[in-house]
Amino acid sequence: MKTNLLNYDLQGLTRHFADMGEKPFRAKQVMRWMHQSGAQNFDEMTDLAKSLRHKLNEQASIEIPKLMMSQESSDGTRKWLLDVGTGNGVETVFIPESDRGTLCISSQVGCALECTFCSTGRQGFNRNLTAAEIIGQLWWANKAMGVTPKNERVISNVVMMGMGEPMANFDNVVTALSIMLDDHGYGLSRRRVTVSTSGMVPQMDRLRDVMPVALAVSLHASNDEVRNQIVPLNKKYPLKELMAACRRYLVKAPRDFITFEYVMLDGINDRAQHARELIELVKDVPCKFNLIPFNPFPNSGYERSSNENIRVFRDILQQAGFVVTVRKTRGDDIDAACGQLAGQVQDKTRRQQKWQQILIGQQG
Ligand code: SAH
Ligand code: SF4
Repeated sequence: MKTNLLNYDLQGLTRHFADMGEKPFRAKQVMRWMHQSGAQNFDEMTDLAKSLRHKLNEQASIEIPKLMMSQESSDGTRKWLLDVGTGNGVETVFIPESDRGTLCISSQVGCALECTFCSTGRQGFNRNLTAAEIIGQLWWANKAMGVTPKNERVISNVVMMGMGEPMANFDNVVTALSIMLDDHGYGLSRRRVTVSTSGMVPQMDRLRDVMPVALAVSLHASNDEVRNQIVPLNKKYPLKELMAACRRYLVKAPRDFITFEYVMLDGINDRAQHARELIELVKDVPCKFNLIPFNPFPNSGYERSSNENIRVFRDILQQAGFVVTVRKTRGDDIDAACGQLAGQVQDKTRRQQKWQQILIGQQG
């Protein structure tokens, strides 16, 4: 079988070329061709000797995931559905803002962690994405979005906040992050690449040691009782341990704060008393808050907090000195908002016998 070179970061590629008896700078050349010029085959790589191109054609490939569908929202948000085989698809979302362009990337087909308010979690888990499938999302989006009139990449930021729990697919995510940060890859700064986790404590420590990028933690509750209900992983890594892991992460983080995401669920976690409890909970962790109004999906059983409750909650945190943003819902008309990414997931865990195709909340 041919080796898909899209699965390698520079280190892996250099090793691969060394095994072929080639010089390390070949790895850099090929990396730039694949990720900066968007080359899809070796014959395009005109500065490689013909003999090397021939050898690469025999032994290696550049397999970019196939595009199943792309959509554009009236607010400029764009969404791509990529084919990841056997009827499965994952979603990638581009969110334009005045000062940056953010790409939201998926890390798994489905998710095994079963947060109760999350459409991806409700679908169950199929498999981890390969590094090629993760970086392939940036490859496609970058190709589609191109550069600004000032010749800067339109995609300036990446957030691992699509489908899946990035920390549960650690090695492939780290390889993809390495390609994003590499000057021969996408050259993004560590501060502009964010991994979002529901709180996998051991992996937070590992990420800090091998690839410290910006970190967002999906907190969603101010006490263990509520968090156990809505983020089942909390039973394994309760809040006290999570807060300690956040503090350890900050020792090497490229930013001097953790972003806490907090989904606003009516009557569940959105009361003034929760806001006050939250202030106490995070008192030793330099942080910012990102309040996310719940995005509904069919049969979720939850409702979005009222604007008034969100405002009161935000004010309490702000008065205590925290920076708080309330996430604007973008791409509503194409179901591209947080937690609505459904893609196409054939669950292998809970619905094994049935193998049904699930398309939640998606038109077309
Ligand atoms: N698994 C990772 C990253 C993907 S989810 C994590 O949980 O952090 C990205 C963010 O969207 C998380 O904060 C998640 O809790 C939130 N989210 C999930 N479902 C949502 C929904 N229906 N409405 C609003 N936010 C949601
Ligand atoms: Fe998985 Fe994140 Fe959804 Fe929880 S919120 S089920 S961790 S994708």
